[in-house]
Amino acid sequence: MFKKILIANRGEIALRIQRACRELGVKSVVVYSEADRDAKYVKLADEAVCIGPAASAQSYLSMPAIIATAEVTDAEAIHPGYGFLSENADFAERVERSGFTFIGPTPESIRMMGDKVSAKQAMIRAGVPCVPGSEGALPEDPKEIIKIARSIGYPVIIKAAGGGGGRGMRVVHTEAALVNAVQMTRTEAGAAFGNPQVYMEKFLENPRHIEIQVLADEHKSAVWLGERDCSMQRRHQKILEEAPAPGIPRRIIEKIGDRCAAACRRMNYRGAGTFEFLYENGEFYFIEMNTRVQVEHPVTELVTGIDIVQMQIKVAAGEKLPFTQRNITMRGHAIECRINAEDPFKFTPSPGRITMWHAPGGPGVRVDSHVYTNYVVPPHYDSMIGKIIVHGDTREQALARMRIALSETVVEGILTNIPLHRELMVDAKFVEGGTNIHYLEGWMSQHKR
Ligand code: ADP
Repeated sequence: MFKKILIANRGEIALRIQRACRELGVKSVVVYSEADRDAKYVKLADEAVCIGPAASAQSYLSMPAIIATAEVTDAEAIHPGYGFLSENADFAERVERSGFTFIGPTPESIRMMGDKVSAKQAMIRAGVPCVPGSEGALPEDPKEIIKIARSIGYPVIIKAAGGGGGRGMRVVHTEAALVNAVQMTRTEAGAAFGNPQVYMEKFLENPRHIEIQVLADEHKSAVWLGERDCSMQRRHQKILEEAPAPGIPRRIIEKIGDRCAAACRRMNYRGAGTFEFLYENGEFYFIEMNTRVQVEHPVTELVTGIDIVQMQIKVAAGEKLPFTQRNITMRGHAIECRINAEDPFKFTPSPGRITMWHAPGGPGVRVDSHVYTNYVVPPHYDSMIGKIIVHGDTREQALARMRIALSETVVEGILTNIPLHRELMVDAKFVEGGTNIHYLEGWMSQHKR
């Protein structure tokens, strides 16, 4: 096992990784920007190093600053968390070339999955079902493009190979609009992601977003840890997640889960990862793979009892997974609400001083948050200030516990989206379970204020 790990991230995930290190008896170094000087994990750290000003480009995205800090603090490995450099293959490569262990997959895996065209091709080879679409990137010839769309059937969606964060996508309903839409998406993708390649998929009208968590080691062992339902989204951004996914027959989930684990073995994948799918009419369609720990990993931890962050560290240190698929059992139901510093109904960011913070507690309640009373939420980063995660024997019990937890939570001085979560937890359709990816936006247009 490593003696010391550098945490190349901020916020709640930096604290989460720090806790995993402590439990493993590993020392940790946190890096922070000038804007995060007063963060809880900085105060609690074994070692903390300021690596630059607030702007991410000069701190959390600065590869030289992070690698130099690992050198001077004698860290052996670097955990990238999520966001920032976590899916940057060049960073993973530089970390390894500098003699450190990157806690994540190989640069080759990151690169392959970061390009959605090559990711899809790898999935097709591995027998993972994908959304019907073009074979690889779209050709230049407009006639060919029209032919491909006809064979798929309208509506179609044009997606950037290098896209991410819900950007670089365009839905096309008619042949008349097709060629122009492809051209526009190409131009935008070139400017935004440095890669003008686009591909085409059937646009699914009412899917749910269901994802499979996997863990794999260097010794050809790979398991899947159940699914998460992340269909509650606004502008392709998840706001709450749950496990298991309500109403989907276990045998369908097991089939897709086994395919994902098999794909990991085939690709020599290492570490934690997530296969994201759209689910419609009883079928799964792969859309992308995330090669890092995700915001919503705690719901899986609560239903499986497996610490995903500790497992990432262990397999990065070369250890074998301590279980096989047969040892993995799912118990009860878990729900996570992301708490954002923002107007609950207009979604404008609300940074500033938290004058009062009171976290909920009680049976089955977990709070992952780096904030406290008098903490100032900086305006420079993502607005998420923490997550409330609950576990119950049944979905009903988890819902009840989340309602209680949200009612106990006090955040004063800034606005948060807690009022939105409180309403969703008593919304008849959500309580019934199985809402699709468009549900939340539809709900919001009916609940305008
Ligand atoms: P990103 O990497 O930007 O998150 P994804 O490929 O994961 O892009 O897609 C993000 C979201 O866009 C999905 O969760 C879904 O809401 C929507 N989407 C993507 N592909 C399709 C599709 N073929 N049909 C319908 N919706 C889609």
